Amino acid sequence: MPDLILFLKKFGEKEKIHILGAGSNTLISDEKFDGVVIKLGKNFSNISILPNDVIIAGSACLDKKLSDFALNNGIGGFEFLACIPGTIGGGLKMNAGCFDKEFKDVLVSIQAIDKNGQVLTIPASKVIFKYRSNDLKEDLIFLSASFKGLRKNKEEIEEYKELLLNGLVQPTKMEIYICNVDGSNLRQVTNLGDANWSPFFHPSNEKIIFCSNHESIMGFPFNLYMIDIDGNNLEQITYDEKFASFPVFSNDGKKITFSSNRNNGGTRNTNVFIANWKE
Ligand SMILES: Cc1cc2nc3c(=O)[nH]c(=O)nc-3n(C[C@H](O)[C@H](O)[C@H](O)COP(=O)(O)OP(=O)(O)OC[C@H]3O[C@@H](n4cnc5c(N)ncnc54)[C@H](O)[C@@H]3O)c2cc1C
Repeated sequence: MPDLILFLKKFGEKEKIHILGAGSNTLISDEKFDGVVIKLGKNFSNISILPNDVIIAGSACLDKKLSDFALNNGIGGFEFLACIPGTIGGGLKMNAGCFDKEFKDVLVSIQAIDKNGQVLTIPASKVIFKYRSNDLKEDLIFLSASFKGLRKNKEEIEEYKELLLNGLVQPTKMEIYICNVDGSNLRQVTNLGDANWSPFFHPSNEKIIFCSNHESIMGFPFNLYMIDIDGNNLEQITYDEKFASFPVFSNDGKKITFSSNRNNGGTRNTNVFIANWKE
Protein backbone atom coordinates (compact mmCIF):
# COMPACT_ATOMS: atom_id res chain seq x y z
CA MET A 1 0.00 0.00 0.00
CA PRO A 2 2.71 2.56 0.86
CA ASP A 3 4.39 1.71 -2.50
CA LEU A 4 1.14 2.31 -4.35
CA ILE A 5 0.60 5.67 -2.64
CA LEU A 6 4.20 6.67 -3.37
CA PHE A 7 3.92 5.62 -7.00
CA LEU A 8 0.66 7.50 -7.53
CA LYS A 9 1.94 10.64 -5.85
CA LYS A 10 4.95 10.59 -8.19
CA PHE A 11 3.44 9.32 -11.44
CA GLY A 12 -0.36 9.28 -11.01
CA GLU A 13 -0.89 12.51 -12.92
CA LYS A 14 1.71 11.78 -15.64
CA GLU A 15 1.22 8.14 -16.55
CA LYS A 16 -1.68 6.41 -18.25
CA ILE A 17 -2.65 3.70 -15.76
CA HIS A 18 -4.65 0.53 -16.34
CA ILE A 19 -5.72 -1.68 -13.44
CA LEU A 20 -5.93 -5.37 -14.16
CA GLY A 21 -8.06 -7.63 -11.98
CA ALA A 22 -8.30 -11.28 -13.03
CA GLY A 23 -8.53 -10.18 -16.68
CA SER A 24 -11.81 -12.01 -17.24
CA ASN A 25 -13.41 -8.94 -18.80
CA THR A 26 -10.29 -7.64 -20.54
CA LEU A 27 -9.12 -8.13 -24.10
CA ILE A 28 -5.46 -7.34 -24.53
CA SER A 29 -4.69 -5.67 -27.82
CA ASP A 30 -1.64 -6.44 -29.95
CA GLU A 31 -0.87 -2.72 -29.94
CA LYS A 32 1.65 -1.35 -27.50
CA PHE A 33 0.09 0.08 -24.30
CA ASP A 34 1.92 3.29 -23.59
CA GLY A 35 1.38 3.40 -19.85
CA VAL A 36 1.51 1.39 -16.65
CA VAL A 37 -0.51 -1.70 -15.86
CA ILE A 38 -1.07 -2.28 -12.15
CA LYS A 39 -2.12 -5.66 -10.85
CA LEU A 40 -2.80 -5.59 -7.13
CA GLY A 41 -1.26 -8.57 -5.38
CA LYS A 42 -1.62 -10.73 -2.29
CA ASN A 43 -1.68 -7.81 0.14
CA PHE A 44 -4.92 -6.72 -1.45
CA SER A 45 -6.68 -10.05 -1.26
CA ASN A 46 -7.40 -10.28 2.46
CA ILE A 47 -10.87 -11.02 3.60
CA SER A 48 -12.35 -10.67 7.07
CA ILE A 49 -15.63 -10.58 8.90
CA LEU A 50 -16.97 -7.64 10.91
CA PRO A 51 -19.96 -7.46 13.27
CA ASN A 52 -23.50 -7.51 11.82
CA ASP A 53 -22.65 -9.93 9.00
CA VAL A 54 -20.47 -7.42 7.20
CA ILE A 55 -17.55 -8.81 5.19
CA ILE A 56 -14.62 -6.72 4.04
CA ALA A 57 -12.62 -8.02 1.07
CA GLY A 58 -9.54 -6.72 -0.71
CA SER A 59 -9.99 -5.82 -4.35
CA ALA A 60 -7.63 -8.55 -5.57
CA CYS A 61 -9.68 -11.20 -3.78
CA LEU A 62 -11.50 -13.52 -6.18
CA ASP A 63 -15.30 -13.35 -6.19
CA LYS A 64 -15.45 -17.09 -5.55
CA LYS A 65 -13.23 -16.73 -2.50
CA LEU A 66 -15.67 -14.18 -1.04
CA SER A 67 -18.58 -16.47 -1.84
CA ASP A 68 -16.87 -19.44 -0.13
CA PHE A 69 -15.83 -17.31 2.84
CA ALA A 70 -19.44 -16.18 3.33
CA LEU A 71 -20.64 -19.79 3.09
CA ASN A 72 -18.14 -20.96 5.71
CA ASN A 73 -19.23 -18.17 8.04
CA GLY A 74 -22.95 -18.86 7.62
CA ILE A 75 -23.62 -15.63 5.74
CA GLY A 76 -25.93 -15.69 2.74
CA GLY A 77 -26.35 -13.27 -0.14
CA PHE A 78 -22.98 -13.98 -1.80
CA GLU A 79 -23.91 -17.22 -3.55
CA PHE A 80 -24.12 -15.52 -6.97
CA LEU A 81 -20.44 -14.55 -6.78
CA ALA A 82 -19.41 -18.19 -7.15
CA CYS A 83 -20.35 -17.91 -10.85
CA ILE A 84 -18.21 -14.88 -11.72
CA PRO A 85 -14.55 -15.56 -12.61
CA GLY A 86 -13.22 -12.14 -11.57
CA THR A 87 -11.91 -10.15 -8.62
CA ILE A 88 -13.69 -7.79 -6.22
CA GLY A 89 -12.05 -4.83 -7.99
CA GLY A 90 -13.28 -5.95 -11.41
CA GLY A 91 -16.70 -6.73 -9.96
CA LEU A 92 -17.04 -3.23 -8.48
CA LYS A 93 -16.02 -1.63 -11.74
CA MET A 94 -18.41 -3.77 -13.79
CA ASN A 95 -21.18 -4.04 -11.18
CA ALA A 96 -20.89 -7.73 -12.04
CA GLY A 97 -23.82 -9.99 -11.41
CA CYS A 98 -25.80 -13.05 -12.31
CA PHE A 99 -29.06 -14.76 -11.38
CA ASP A 100 -30.78 -11.47 -10.64
CA LYS A 101 -28.13 -10.21 -8.19
CA GLU A 102 -25.37 -7.68 -8.70
CA PHE A 103 -22.50 -6.26 -6.66
CA LYS A 104 -24.61 -3.22 -5.78
CA ASP A 105 -27.13 -5.44 -3.97
CA VAL A 106 -24.65 -6.47 -1.25
CA LEU A 107 -22.27 -3.50 -1.29
CA VAL A 108 -21.93 -1.21 1.75
CA SER A 109 -18.89 0.89 0.84
CA ILE A 110 -15.78 1.03 -1.30
CA GLN A 111 -12.30 2.02 -0.27
CA ALA A 112 -10.41 3.52 -3.19
CA ILE A 113 -7.38 5.58 -4.02
CA ASP A 114 -7.28 8.36 -6.60
CA LYS A 115 -4.45 9.16 -8.97
CA ASN A 116 -2.96 11.62 -6.45
CA GLY A 117 -2.55 8.87 -3.88
CA GLN A 118 -5.51 10.08 -1.79
CA VAL A 119 -7.41 7.26 -0.06
CA LEU A 120 -11.18 7.68 0.16
CA THR A 121 -14.18 5.74 1.41
CA ILE A 122 -17.27 5.87 -0.77
CA PRO A 123 -20.63 4.70 0.63
CA ALA A 124 -22.58 2.57 -1.83
CA SER A 125 -25.51 4.98 -1.47
CA LYS A 126 -23.45 7.68 -3.19
CA VAL A 127 -22.80 5.58 -6.31
CA ILE A 128 -25.19 5.16 -9.21
CA PHE A 129 -24.86 1.60 -10.45
CA LYS A 130 -26.23 0.58 -13.79
CA TYR A 131 -26.06 -2.62 -15.79
CA ARG A 132 -22.33 -3.52 -15.71
CA SER A 133 -21.20 0.03 -14.93
CA ASN A 134 -21.14 2.77 -12.33
CA ASP A 135 -20.76 6.55 -12.29
CA LEU A 136 -17.48 6.67 -10.32
CA LYS A 137 -14.48 8.50 -11.73
CA GLU A 138 -12.59 6.39 -14.27
CA ASP A 139 -9.23 6.84 -12.58
CA LEU A 140 -10.16 5.43 -9.17
CA ILE A 141 -8.33 2.32 -8.05
CA PHE A 142 -10.46 0.16 -5.77
CA LEU A 143 -8.60 -1.15 -2.73
CA SER A 144 -11.29 -3.03 -0.86
CA ALA A 145 -15.01 -3.08 -0.26
CA SER A 146 -17.37 -4.00 2.54
CA PHE A 147 -20.48 -6.01 1.92
CA LYS A 148 -23.54 -6.86 3.98
CA GLY A 149 -24.95 -10.36 3.99
CA LEU A 150 -27.77 -12.16 5.69
CA ARG A 151 -27.35 -14.79 8.35
CA LYS A 152 -28.15 -18.20 6.85
CA ASN A 153 -27.14 -21.70 7.81
CA LYS A 154 -24.56 -23.56 5.74
CA GLU A 155 -27.08 -26.03 4.29
CA GLU A 156 -29.33 -23.23 3.02
CA ILE A 157 -26.38 -21.54 1.30
CA GLU A 158 -25.07 -24.82 -0.16
CA GLU A 159 -28.54 -25.71 -1.43
CA TYR A 160 -28.84 -22.33 -3.13
CA LYS A 161 -25.34 -22.59 -4.64
CA GLU A 162 -26.15 -26.04 -5.99
CA LEU A 163 -29.23 -24.63 -7.70
CA LEU A 164 -27.14 -21.85 -9.26
CA LEU A 165 -24.57 -24.36 -10.52
CA ASN A 166 -27.38 -26.23 -12.29
CA GLY A 167 -28.64 -23.02 -13.86
CA LEU A 168 -31.64 -22.92 -11.55
CA VAL A 169 -32.87 -20.26 -9.17
CA GLN A 170 -35.30 -20.25 -6.35
CA PRO A 171 -38.34 -18.20 -7.21
CA THR A 172 -37.94 -14.63 -5.93
CA LYS A 173 -40.78 -12.31 -6.96
CA MET A 174 -43.90 -13.68 -8.55
CA GLU A 175 -47.60 -12.92 -8.27
CA ILE A 176 -50.59 -14.99 -9.36
CA TYR A 177 -52.61 -13.82 -12.36
CA ILE A 178 -55.71 -15.20 -13.97
CA CYS A 179 -56.91 -14.93 -17.56
CA ASN A 180 -59.14 -16.69 -20.07
CA VAL A 181 -57.54 -19.53 -22.04
CA ASP A 182 -57.21 -17.23 -25.08
CA GLY A 183 -55.19 -14.79 -22.95
CA SER A 184 -57.96 -12.20 -22.65
CA ASN A 185 -59.23 -10.63 -19.41
CA LEU A 186 -55.90 -10.83 -17.60
CA ARG A 187 -56.07 -9.70 -13.97
CA GLN A 188 -53.81 -9.93 -10.94
CA VAL A 189 -55.02 -12.04 -8.04
CA THR A 190 -52.24 -11.73 -5.43
CA ASN A 191 -50.26 -8.67 -4.44
CA LEU A 192 -48.29 -10.15 -1.57
CA GLY A 193 -44.65 -9.66 -2.58
CA ASP A 194 -41.98 -12.40 -2.62
CA ALA A 195 -42.77 -15.63 -4.50
CA ASN A 196 -46.39 -16.62 -5.09
CA TRP A 197 -46.56 -19.52 -7.52
CA SER A 198 -47.75 -23.05 -8.36
CA PRO A 199 -51.46 -22.06 -8.42
CA PHE A 200 -54.30 -24.57 -8.77
CA PHE A 201 -58.02 -23.87 -8.99
CA HIS A 202 -60.25 -25.08 -6.18
CA PRO A 203 -62.98 -27.29 -7.77
CA SER A 204 -65.53 -24.48 -7.13
CA ASN A 205 -63.53 -22.27 -9.58
CA GLU A 206 -64.04 -19.48 -7.04
CA LYS A 207 -60.74 -19.92 -5.20
CA ILE A 208 -57.09 -20.67 -5.95
CA ILE A 209 -54.63 -22.59 -3.82
CA PHE A 210 -51.00 -21.60 -4.31
CA CYS A 211 -47.55 -21.69 -2.77
CA SER A 212 -45.97 -18.62 -1.18
CA ASN A 213 -43.10 -17.47 1.00
CA HIS A 214 -44.46 -13.94 1.53
CA GLU A 215 -44.58 -14.36 5.31
CA SER A 216 -41.04 -15.70 5.72
CA ILE A 217 -38.03 -13.57 6.52
CA MET A 218 -35.19 -15.53 4.84
CA GLY A 219 -37.05 -16.80 1.76
CA PHE A 220 -38.14 -19.99 3.56
CA PRO A 221 -40.50 -21.59 4.46
CA PHE A 222 -42.87 -21.93 1.53
CA ASN A 223 -46.44 -22.81 2.49
CA LEU A 224 -49.80 -23.30 0.80
CA TYR A 225 -52.37 -20.51 0.86
CA MET A 226 -55.87 -20.15 -0.55
CA ILE A 227 -57.36 -16.95 -1.95
CA ASP A 228 -60.60 -15.95 -3.69
CA ILE A 229 -60.18 -15.24 -7.40
CA ASP A 230 -60.93 -11.55 -6.69
CA GLY A 231 -57.91 -11.42 -4.34
CA ASN A 232 -59.90 -11.48 -1.08
CA ASN A 233 -59.95 -13.89 1.86
CA LEU A 234 -56.34 -15.05 1.96
CA GLU A 235 -56.04 -18.10 4.17
CA GLN A 236 -52.95 -20.12 5.17
CA ILE A 237 -53.44 -23.84 4.56
CA THR A 238 -50.16 -25.56 5.53
CA TYR A 239 -47.72 -24.77 8.32
CA ASP A 240 -44.57 -26.52 7.08
CA GLU A 241 -41.22 -25.42 8.48
CA LYS A 242 -39.44 -25.66 5.11
CA PHE A 243 -41.42 -26.33 1.97
CA ALA A 244 -44.90 -27.27 0.78
CA SER A 245 -45.93 -26.67 -2.82
CA PHE A 246 -47.47 -28.04 -6.06
CA PRO A 247 -51.04 -28.45 -4.69
CA VAL A 248 -53.53 -30.39 -6.84
CA PHE A 249 -57.18 -31.12 -5.94
CA SER A 250 -58.93 -34.32 -6.93
CA ASN A 251 -61.71 -33.67 -9.46
CA ASP A 252 -64.42 -34.14 -6.82
CA GLY A 253 -62.61 -31.73 -4.44
CA LYS A 254 -62.45 -34.32 -1.67
CA LYS A 255 -58.69 -34.82 -1.69
CA ILE A 256 -55.60 -32.71 -2.17
CA THR A 257 -52.04 -33.75 -3.02
CA PHE A 258 -48.97 -31.60 -2.60
CA SER A 259 -45.20 -31.91 -2.28
CA SER A 260 -43.50 -31.23 1.00
CA ASN A 261 -40.23 -31.55 2.88
CA ARG A 262 -42.06 -32.44 6.09
CA ASN A 263 -41.11 -35.65 7.97
CA ASN A 264 -37.92 -36.14 5.95
CA GLY A 265 -35.65 -36.78 8.94
CA GLY A 266 -33.57 -33.65 8.30
CA THR A 267 -32.64 -34.73 4.76
CA ARG A 268 -33.44 -32.74 1.64
CA ASN A 269 -36.05 -35.23 0.41
CA THR A 270 -39.29 -33.87 -0.98
CA ASN A 271 -42.23 -36.27 -1.04
CA VAL A 272 -45.78 -36.30 -2.35
CA PHE A 273 -48.55 -36.23 0.28
CA ILE A 274 -52.28 -36.71 0.04
CA ALA A 275 -54.92 -35.51 2.49
CA ASN A 276 -58.70 -35.31 2.75
CA TRP A 277 -59.99 -31.84 1.99
CA LYS A 278 -62.66 -30.46 4.33
CA GLU A 279 -64.11 -26.99 3.85
C1 LIG B 1 -16.46 -17.43 -18.56
C2 LIG B 1 -16.88 -16.05 -18.08
C3 LIG B 1 -18.05 -15.93 -17.37
C4 LIG B 1 -18.46 -14.66 -16.92
N1 LIG B 1 -19.64 -14.57 -16.25
C5 LIG B 1 -20.06 -13.35 -15.81
C6 LIG B 1 -21.28 -13.19 -15.12
O1 LIG B 1 -22.03 -14.15 -14.88
N2 LIG B 1 -21.64 -11.94 -14.72
C7 LIG B 1 -20.86 -10.86 -14.95
O2 LIG B 1 -21.23 -9.76 -14.55
N3 LIG B 1 -19.69 -10.99 -15.61
C8 LIG B 1 -19.27 -12.18 -16.05
N4 LIG B 1 -18.09 -12.28 -16.73
C9 LIG B 1 -17.29 -11.08 -16.97
C10 LIG B 1 -16.22 -10.82 -15.88
O3 LIG B 1 -15.89 -12.01 -15.20
C11 LIG B 1 -16.70 -9.80 -14.84
O4 LIG B 1 -16.94 -8.54 -15.44
C12 LIG B 1 -15.68 -9.60 -13.70
O5 LIG B 1 -16.28 -8.83 -12.68
C13 LIG B 1 -14.40 -8.92 -14.15
O6 LIG B 1 -13.49 -8.97 -13.08
P1 LIG B 1 -11.94 -9.05 -13.35
O7 LIG B 1 -11.25 -9.01 -12.03
O8 LIG B 1 -11.60 -10.20 -14.22
O9 LIG B 1 -11.75 -7.67 -14.12
P2 LIG B 1 -10.76 -7.31 -15.32
O10 LIG B 1 -11.20 -7.98 -16.57
O11 LIG B 1 -9.36 -7.51 -14.92
O12 LIG B 1 -11.10 -5.76 -15.41
C14 LIG B 1 -12.38 -5.32 -15.76
C15 LIG B 1 -12.46 -3.81 -15.51
O13 LIG B 1 -12.35 -3.56 -14.11
C16 LIG B 1 -11.27 -2.67 -13.86
N5 LIG B 1 -10.66 -3.04 -12.58
C17 LIG B 1 -10.25 -4.28 -12.18
N6 LIG B 1 -9.78 -4.22 -10.92
C18 LIG B 1 -9.90 -2.92 -10.54
C19 LIG B 1 -9.56 -2.20 -9.34
N7 LIG B 1 -9.00 -2.80 -8.28
N8 LIG B 1 -9.81 -0.87 -9.29
C20 LIG B 1 -10.37 -0.22 -10.36
N9 LIG B 1 -10.70 -0.83 -11.50
C21 LIG B 1 -10.46 -2.17 -11.59
C22 LIG B 1 -10.32 -2.87 -15.05
O14 LIG B 1 -9.47 -1.75 -15.21
C23 LIG B 1 -11.31 -3.04 -16.17
O15 LIG B 1 -11.81 -1.78 -16.57
C24 LIG B 1 -17.66 -13.53 -17.19
C25 LIG B 1 -16.45 -13.67 -17.89
C26 LIG B 1 -16.06 -14.92 -18.34
C27 LIG B 1 -14.76 -15.04 -19.07
